[in-house]
Amino acid sequence: MMGKKAGDQHQLFYSFNLDKHVPADHLLRRIDCFLDLSQLRQRLGSFYSHTGRPSVDPELMIRTLLVGYCFGIRSERRLCEEVHLNLAYRWFCRMGLEAEVPDHSTFSKNRHGRFRESDLFRQLFEDVVRRCMSEGLVQGEGFAIDASIVQADANRRRGIPSEQPINWSDPQLGSRAVREYLEKLEQDGHIGAPPKSISLTDPAARWTAAPGCPAFFAYSTNYLVDVHAGVIMDVEATAAHRIEETEATKTMLERVEDRLGIKPSYLIGDTAYGSAPMLEWLVNGKRIEPHIPVWEHSERRDGTFCSGEFTWDESADEYRCPGNKPLRREWRLFSKPRTHITKAETIIYRARQSDCASCPLKSQCCPNMPFRKITRSLYEAAREHARALRDTPEYLQSRKDRKKVEVLFAHMKRILRVNRLRLRGRTGARDEFLLTAIAQNLRRLAITVPLSAGSLAGAPG
Ligand code: SF4
Repeated sequence: MMGKKAGDQHQLFYSFNLDKHVPADHLLRRIDCFLDLSQLRQRLGSFYSHTGRPSVDPELMIRTLLVGYCFGIRSERRLCEEVHLNLAYRWFCRMGLEAEVPDHSTFSKNRHGRFRESDLFRQLFEDVVRRCMSEGLVQGEGFAIDASIVQADANRRRGIPSEQPINWSDPQLGSRAVREYLEKLEQDGHIGAPPKSISLTDPAARWTAAPGCPAFFAYSTNYLVDVHAGVIMDVEATAAHRIEETEATKTMLERVEDRLGIKPSYLIGDTAYGSAPMLEWLVNGKRIEPHIPVWEHSERRDGTFCSGEFTWDESADEYRCPGNKPLRREWRLFSKPRTHITKAETIIYRARQSDCASCPLKSQCCPNMPFRKITRSLYEAAREHARALRDTPEYLQSRKDRKKVEVLFAHMKRILRVNRLRLRGRTGARDEFLLTAIAQNLRRLAITVPLSAGSLAGAPG
């Protein structure tokens, strides 16, 4: 017999325990066991007035934001609707059935104000990393570094060529992102070559393009990851620019050492991190082994001898060519001694023109030049050190471990849907990337660390 649902929705009194309606294996229940917000009110205390109307509870705001970042709910308006309707989200935000969800505009006000001024997201990120450490998810032996480009909230049609003069005092350009950009520009100037196009809505975002794709404005999120369990040890927002990404690596390694007391034995990265100054900083500055391919700019495609075929003689400060002739930095004494160091921090070694002119190997060496030159980096010893690691079993394992960062970026974009930013300016990008990394580390804790039935059931309703 076909049954019929009894009762209606007009009952006046219910006995309802929210806690009982959230499944024991719900991701938020597990995340809740690792989230400690006990310091929150103290950290934010000085950013609130002691008089006036009470604000929305900051813990409720943070918990709601975390729901959004853990489940890929990118719109604040939609997030508020979801928290209003979803029982598990309500439970995680410590809200009763009838409690009012804050208005979506309250989020913007707090994100750009108190939360940013107090550096709350960074403190929260570090709390979660410390929890990962105490749960044994961090070994501190090998770190991997990589960057991923995320589209900025800036329409490509609002960009103009960078050589075109811009009247930044125009009141129509008086946004927070523009003010922030101008302050930073005054402080640091342009890093690297100026971009082809500048956005008038978010000028700190960099005009960038992957090969074969249309260009767009973007930021880079830089992850420093412990390869043992894939925990994100640090995150930094930069413009989508190689020089800034390399500098961010140094910032993050020093910050992790300073704040968390961990310095890895080796660092895994791709060729973008294999520049000579970066390798020098790692090898001789920090004593960290670079599991990074050396950035070779001397490879030749015309079949002539490459620099690797010339032998370096440290004691004589010269190269020996395949014809066993010397290449030196100078062939005569100058009245005023010269270093021969170029702006690119290299020294050029030259063969003698007379040697090359009569050499039977000239067509294989320098067919279009009177003599052969070899450029040597000032940091060649660090480059040699990195090359020597290339065939070790540890290095080959590192090539596989590097994929752990790529997996995190794929998860960030496909599952958490952080493929376009919602906040503008570099600080907006920083906040979004920090919250994403917090969500990813919390998910890692929730999925990896076994919990007793008691700790899962003990959460408040
Ligand atoms: S061309 Fe000059 S540098 Fe090259 S092998 Fe001959 S002598 Fe040496």
